[in-house]
Amino acid sequence: MDDGLSPRQERIGIHPAIVFFDLDTVGALISPWIRQLSCGQLKSVVLRANARGRRPRALLVDGEAPMLHDGDVLVEMRACGLCGTDIEKLKGEYTAAMPVLGHEAVGVVARLGPRVKGFHVGDRVFPHHHVPCGRCGYCLRGSLTMCDDYRKSNLSPGGFSEFFKVPGRNVLKGGVLALPPGLSFQEAALIEPVACCLRAIDRCGAKRGDSVLVAGAGPAGMAHALLLRSMGAKVMISDVSEWRLSFARRLGFRHALDAKSEVEESVMRETEERGADVVIVASGSPNAVVQGMRSVRKGGTVCLFGIPVEGSSLEYSLSAVYNREVSIIPSYGATEADTRRALKIVASGRINFRSLITGRYTLDRFDQAVEAASGGGQMKVIVLP
Ligand SMILES: [Zn+2]
Ligand SMILES: [Zn+2]
Repeated sequence: MDDGLSPRQERIGIHPAIVFFDLDTVGALISPWIRQLSCGQLKSVVLRANARGRRPRALLVDGEAPMLHDGDVLVEMRACGLCGTDIEKLKGEYTAAMPVLGHEAVGVVARLGPRVKGFHVGDRVFPHHHVPCGRCGYCLRGSLTMCDDYRKSNLSPGGFSEFFKVPGRNVLKGGVLALPPGLSFQEAALIEPVACCLRAIDRCGAKRGDSVLVAGAGPAGMAHALLLRSMGAKVMISDVSEWRLSFARRLGFRHALDAKSEVEESVMRETEERGADVVIVASGSPNAVVQGMRSVRKGGTVCLFGIPVEGSSLEYSLSAVYNREVSIIPSYGATEADTRRALKIVASGRINFRSLITGRYTLDRFDQAVEAASGGGQMKVIVLP
């Protein structure tokens, strides 16, 4: 009978009957034996610090299968989206959380730690990397992604790994979702980014009939645009890249605006000179934020979605913010309610998110994946084992 083990699982000596122990607690005497059973060579791309002042590097390393503690789940990665934030981490520009590479990962449950309930080896899953505690002052006041625990939890050693560990608390708090049979791993890798967009759209209150400018036509901007269009909003999208603008036009976005010249004027023209009801800035560029501030209508909302590059500040008149009653609403991350919603939307196939995937690279070509994603000729890049 098929025991459900993949060739990779066999290579690293994974077997459902073997429980991973924490070497620290098991003791030195039997640890060599456990080491033999539990470790093997598995590929991971991890971030390594460099000399001061130099960018960190992504290194493909051979590592050991992570030890599983109470409640942990080991997942065999099948697809992991490369996010703009991964590239920021590699450039040393990322400011939001700890620098683990790869958080848009999906795969198959390969092993269960002690006392895991509700999952089985072989289950196809989406594991959320950050999960709030649900009990602290931030969580109780609805700021779930501001929970101190949220950014502390993560996949280990990260999503760009043949196998990675999902911490027990993420499993316990509902961070791991079962994938429906018809949903491909590559599409499922879009659940996390789509969930973040859903939360941003909620927070800025965009709704049917609104004029919305999405500033930034990268993968996150395009995911916003697709969601907003499906909600019945009038979508305009801007970028400095002609390649991205023509990509947006190919997906039917007529109002794809060149951010180097025409954004404010075009938005005014399309909105009877009022300005956009909502602007979603899906770019870390301060220029995009300023352009958003100038393009939003009086009483409108500018949502900061892209993570601003380190050290940047907003050069915009505070009196104009006040006199024009502009709301600035940042949106960071997603909650479990958002990932559940995103899973449903992605699985429904109603929105063609798949069309955003333009590049696929295996782990050992990770550097090429990064080069392609930063080079401007790719939309969403997916890394495969
Ligand atoms: Zn991301
Ligand atoms: Zn909390």
